[in-house]
Amino acid sequence: MASIFSRIASGEIPSYRVAEDDRHYAFLDINPVAEGHVLVIPKHEVDYIFDLPDDELAALHVFAKRVAEAVKQAIPCTKVGMAVLGLEVPHAHIHLIPLRTESDMDFRRPKLQLTPERMKEIADGIAARLK
Ligand code: AMP
Repeated sequence: MASIFSRIASGEIPSYRVAEDDRHYAFLDINPVAEGHVLVIPKHEVDYIFDLPDDELAALHVFAKRVAEAVKQAIPCTKVGMAVLGLEVPHAHIHLIPLRTESDMDFRRPKLQLTPERMKEIADGIAARLK
């Protein structure tokens, strides 16, 4: 059985897509800690990110860098932070989160409730700035 994130990357489960190439997929976190909270995954389904082969781990980060640059342009913030947890979904993923203060990266905070329209607007805004 494919992971929920593999099913998202294949289009079987809908998502607010921001970027994709042959090996990677980026989409909005459905329970964002901040507007512009993006998840970046390898299409290669591996639970633990550090089990990825070196070249795939490197390529994932280079892809995440491109996405982070677009997030930074689309969402007012000081920097885009990066985190890896993986305690909930067993498919490696990088969280990209627009930061103004350290607390913007606090995963214990109540998650934002955004309308589907706002989620789409954010995803499209990021996608439009991808180089
Ligand atoms: P973790 O595995 O601890 O890094 O957390 C998994 C993250 O995936 C959480 O921030 C969830 O809100 C997010 N998430 C879970 N299911 C979905 C989904 N269907 N679409 C988008 N984000 C999701």
